[in-house]
Amino acid sequence: MTRTVYVNGEYLPENEASISIFDRGFLMADAVYEVTSVLGGKLIDFEGHAVRLKRSLDELDMAEPCTKEALLEIHRKLVELNEIDEGLVYLQVTRGSDGDRDFAFPSEDTPPSIVLFTQNKPGLADSPAAKKGAKIISIEDIRWGRRDIKTVQLLYPSMGKMMAKKVGCDDAWMVEDGYVTEGTSNNAYFVKDGVIVTRPLSTEILHGITRKAVLRIAEEAQLKIEERLFTIEEAQSADEAFTTSASAFVMPVVEIDGVTLGEGVPGPIAKRLREIYLDESQKAAI
Ligand code: PMP
Repeated sequence: MTRTVYVNGEYLPENEASISIFDRGFLMADAVYEVTSVLGGKLIDFEGHAVRLKRSLDELDMAEPCTKEALLEIHRKLVELNEIDEGLVYLQVTRGSDGDRDFAFPSEDTPPSIVLFTQNKPGLADSPAAKKGAKIISIEDIRWGRRDIKTVQLLYPSMGKMMAKKVGCDDAWMVEDGYVTEGTSNNAYFVKDGVIVTRPLSTEILHGITRKAVLRIAEEAQLKIEERLFTIEEAQSADEAFTTSASAFVMPVVEIDGVTLGEGVPGPIAKRLREIYLDESQKAAI
């Protein structure tokens, strides 16, 4: 089945869709994105993603390509046309193109570009990786200083993922000034003596949609949460650890820089949070 994608107002077969070579997303990474999960053919936390998209656009003085209602309609239509039961909808908005390359932004009447496509991921919720848990390495965080804006500048996170794969691990946590910021594409947590520890929100990390939901669930389950800076050494001596993201939900972590956490299997709190998150978010999916 040929995938149908959405580009600037049109639904097209993927091999007929195109974007200008002068598009600033392509030339300058002048673009923001969102990834929304689909479970049972429905969108998980669309509202959260729409609100964060608006914030990213506002922070960069970028125009909104369409209303939230229109965006929802496009998401739903792509899910339907591509018969997605479990998978992802990727959305990218760029500052568009005025037909040339210049560091200065194009004039304000230049329309943004908007692209959406689906990724079919059967078994996304019942993931074998989540049953095994992830092995993590730590790397220096050398990204720019506005990580709260969800831009498509993903080269360093991609490199981090490759550094992990090269040594037989699954992912990397980034460290700045001695403290963990976040994972390459997720927020990072450890659990010690029943207390969940994660870095507080700031411009140094992405304000994860899943982070917000999972912390709410943890609070409702009467679990203690500490939002504070933490080191790799602290996480290594934890009872368990995990990450959160819209595409992998709650992912247990079983090893950090070669040190096994607990029994080396997903911890009970990560497993429980994953279960509740999947259950609640599917009930609320639209
Ligand atoms: N941090 C980074 C750097 C990410 O790329 C992501 C995933 N996009 C997250 C955290 C998790 O955010 P969310 O839960 O909204 O997917």
